[in-house]
Amino acid sequence: MTVCNSCRYCEGLCAVFPAIEMRRAFSDGDLNYLANLCHACGACYVDCQFSPPHEFNVNVPKTLAIARDESYARYAWPRALSGLFVRNGIVVSAIAALSVAAFIIGFAAFNDRAALYGIHTGPGAFYALMLHNAMTLLFGTAFLCAILVLAMGGRAFWHDIGEPIGTRTDLASLWQAVKDASRLRYLDGSGVGCFDGEDRPTRRRRIFHHLTFYGFLLCFAATCVATLYHYLLAREAPYAWWDLPVVLGTLGGIGLLVGPAGLLILKARRDQVLIDQASAGMDTAFLVMLFLTSLTGVSLLVGRDTATMGPLLALHLGVVFALFITMPYGKFVHGLYRFMALVRYARERREMVKGAASQ
Ligand code: SF4
Ligand code: SF4
Repeated sequence: MTVCNSCRYCEGLCAVFPAIEMRRAFSDGDLNYLANLCHACGACYVDCQFSPPHEFNVNVPKTLAIARDESYARYAWPRALSGLFVRNGIVVSAIAALSVAAFIIGFAAFNDRAALYGIHTGPGAFYALMLHNAMTLLFGTAFLCAILVLAMGGRAFWHDIGEPIGTRTDLASLWQAVKDASRLRYLDGSGVGCFDGEDRPTRRRRIFHHLTFYGFLLCFAATCVATLYHYLLAREAPYAWWDLPVVLGTLGGIGLLVGPAGLLILKARRDQVLIDQASAGMDTAFLVMLFLTSLTGVSLLVGRDTATMGPLLALHLGVVFALFITMPYGKFVHGLYRFMALVRYARERREMVKGAASQ
């Protein structure tokens, strides 16, 4: 960071370099802020005249990737569980396997064979195999726990990067961060795209990331609408193909199939010099979990009127439950910390512009 602060060649590439220039020294909190502001496009490595084999050995994307991954463990709550970020790929895989096995065994134990492999149609068909209240209790508890853990991690990050509490009510900075995050403004190396193992940058990583992000949001919206249907309108799932929860879920599901699959392929092709190898398992596990959530959801949608509905429902619920409980201890946290870093950057920029105008 100190070399970059003297050089300043990359200041137009993304938010990281202007943020570096606003500092003379770099605390751990500053580095974690910069690390989570970086979108890992790779442009500054390709442009750098001090990258290997130069003796300065400057590799900003990899350095920030290492710091970023360490920051996830640092802000984990409770701290005793920060070890889950180590060998995260194995941890997530084991939890997913256990969760799927538990749902399959549970479905087999609480339903007779005729019910498990029977054809259930119409409103409430899913609840013939698992009571709605049991589903709500289990998934609601897992979801609320995930929100609590993420909130505590976000609080620790916010405190560590030295941000005053008042920024949270700075609506202009919040709005700027929402715009930057929703457009992935800094994922394109100042407009040229990302370096994904080819000679020229491409926009593919940005497109696949958008598909993943908006696919996730659409699936979440589908769940929210279905919850409102159930409690406000007394309409029970499953719903018709044309009904809003199914339309939102189907569109989101397509995004969550294509986006993570594309990101996994780009990740495999990426120049290894840009990557923090230690976190490869965590990145892959998260993308695979999103892909499997969608794959099992779409399979359930296709097979819900057949005798495969019972096993497909057990499989889908097992994967979704594993996704919920591993969310705060895996790559999902990057979305939260990156957004908070963008809020801070927006505020810093506004104050700098204000300061320059008043001089
Ligand atoms: S990455 Fe290299 S070229 Fe870019 S600012 Fe840092 S030292 Fe300069
Ligand atoms: S966002 Fe891209 S250009 Fe900016 S620091 Fe990260 S890798 Fe370098």
